[in-house]
Amino acid sequence: MKSVSKLMLFLFATVFAVSPAFAQTMHAEVVVVGGGGSGTAAAYAVAQAGAKSVIVLEKQPATGGTGKYSEGIFAAESKMQQERNIILTKDESFKKIMDYSHWRANAKLVRAFVDKSAETVDWLEEQGVRFKELTSNYPGGLQSWHIFDGRGATMLKTLQSKFPEMNVKILTETPGKKIMMKNGKVAGVIAENIDEEEVKIYAKVVIIATGGFLNNKEMMEKYTRFGDAIPVGNVGKVGDGINMMIEAGAELEGMEVVQNYRPGMPGEATTSQLIAVARQPYLWVDKNGERFCDETVIFQWPFAGNALHRAGGLMYAIIDSNTKKYLMTEGLDVGVGVMVPVKTKLLKLEQELERGVKKGIAFKSDSIKGLAKQMGADPKALEATIKSYNSYSKTKHDIEFAKDPKYIQPVAEGPFYAVMAKPTALGTLGGAKVTKDMQVIGKNSKVIDGLYAVGNDAGGMYGDSYDLLMAGSTIGFAVNSGRMAGEHAAQYLQSVR
Ligand SMILES: Cc1cc2nc3c(=O)[nH]c(=O)nc-3n(C[C@H](O)[C@H](O)[C@H](O)COP(=O)(O)OP(=O)(O)OC[C@H]3O[C@@H](n4cnc5c(N)ncnc54)[C@H](O)[C@@H]3O)c2cc1C
Repeated sequence: MKSVSKLMLFLFATVFAVSPAFAQTMHAEVVVVGGGGSGTAAAYAVAQAGAKSVIVLEKQPATGGTGKYSEGIFAAESKMQQERNIILTKDESFKKIMDYSHWRANAKLVRAFVDKSAETVDWLEEQGVRFKELTSNYPGGLQSWHIFDGRGATMLKTLQSKFPEMNVKILTETPGKKIMMKNGKVAGVIAENIDEEEVKIYAKVVIIATGGFLNNKEMMEKYTRFGDAIPVGNVGKVGDGINMMIEAGAELEGMEVVQNYRPGMPGEATTSQLIAVARQPYLWVDKNGERFCDETVIFQWPFAGNALHRAGGLMYAIIDSNTKKYLMTEGLDVGVGVMVPVKTKLLKLEQELERGVKKGIAFKSDSIKGLAKQMGADPKALEATIKSYNSYSKTKHDIEFAKDPKYIQPVAEGPFYAVMAKPTALGTLGGAKVTKDMQVIGKNSKVIDGLYAVGNDAGGMYGDSYDLLMAGSTIGFAVNSGRMAGEHAAQYLQSVR
């Protein structure tokens, strides 16, 4: 492996870099650190806008990052929307995002993102990316979610397939470690190859696209209130890029904002029929056996994540045999994106509940008292909760949290089931403070020349919480911010060549 890696670096250096005798030193016009959603778009855009040589560093054996899981991308005033008589203007989108964030978001950045979003869908199509659907992320939501044909993975592969002819090189298993600076300007990146040897890559532009810090427990605890969130998606999001930028003198913004997700459990797939029970808007209780929210918050899942954290980070979804039957024969009231549609029948629920019982994350009993004991909750508290809850189904009024009575499924017919769930998250959404062109701003409030942050390494898109107002906004921000950085960086290069 070692010699193969060295040979590859040597060949690479010969073809691509003006370097000394061995490939531990390379040269390129641009280094993009991170080959996921934002990094791929940034590398493509900067090469398209005239950069002569671009190196993409990817820490993992394969590129794609979290971006490969994404289903669809935000846009306002796109052709797809216009063709379907869907009116979502750029002005309306901008105002809604800013109002939702209480104007804590970076208004110039939000405006630039929204204004570019429709053109980015056109641009993706021009590069060969295909879309199959336009929808919203929850009932009654805005129709801004342009669904990729083949998910984000295909979108990213389509873009990356053009890299060889654009002089964009990807180096996998080569993490960026440090930003090199000279006279206050970016001078390149120090990376590490598969043999853990230092590789110096000299470049006038560095674009940081490492996907945030969700997998770094220490940083999650330091910067957010959501240290217990179970990370969903890829594993490499440990804050490398943000820490590299801090070292280079960057100011931070919005580090507390987390993309909280639906309740889940470690090791349970997004499509798990067992966890699907905990993602329905029926009865949820905390570890004390008490309700803690209007369970229809699940429709806007970041809010469900927020409520679950507020409740101490552990919940049980309680269903009775009638609800079990309903889920098996009528299907889900709440799906999971476009992957698991509403009304999907949980045909394997019986076996899944048994599996959960064996795994210790589901409980079954003929009595509420027995169920409470297994959950470790106070039986009296759980009985009282269920008595009140069942009464709301008769009066059609949830006096606690005003839940739509349509979703008050009584808990009356044994055996009873409890499915345990904990908070999960898709990503962190804060990072370096940036301009509307994704230039990183230093602690002295001045732009750090040549340094850009994109996607989940850039802050300022959100106020204090992620939301589903504009479905597709995070891969949207990743791809659009990548393009914004790439286009600006190409202009910057002209001034420093
Ligand atoms: C299951 C799931 C579904 C989603 N669906 C949607 C959706 O439908 N719509 C939507 O808007 N958003 C969605 N998202 C969120 C969206 O995918 C992310 O917000 C987006 O991908 C972030 O892009 P990024 O470039 O910042 O990070 P990533 O795409 O994660 O890319 C970061 C890359 O950097 C690499 N890296 C890390 N450290 C280093 C280093 N030191 N050196 C080199 N490389 C490094 C990582 O390995 C990774 O490849 C979803 C997320 C998940 C988990």
